[in-house]
Amino acid sequence: MFATALGARIEAEGLTLPCWSADPELFFAEAPADIESAKALCVDCPVRSACLDGAVERREPYGVWGGQLVVSGAIVARKRPRGRPRKVAA
Ligand code: SF4
Repeated sequence: MFATALGARIEAEGLTLPCWSADPELFFAEAPADIESAKALCVDCPVRSACLDGAVERREPYGVWGGQLVVSGAIVARKRPRGRPRKVAA
């Protein structure tokens, strides 16, 4: 799950991460309330910034990482709701 350096740090420092005791699906949820719940779990995480940096660097396709929603490697404020596809010029 984590890049080697971060994994080594977690092991060396004996850290326990909030997401380890949560439902993993929460971090990849579609519902805004679930996304916010996942973000809240990250608030007290000791590796929060490294987690986020790694997700951006790896261009994670989707999920809550380091307390932020990441889509295609970019931090987004909120998930775009599903809707009709854009019109394509004929
Ligand atoms: S910041 Fe990353 S490692 Fe920490 S709880 Fe959130 S998802 Fe887990």
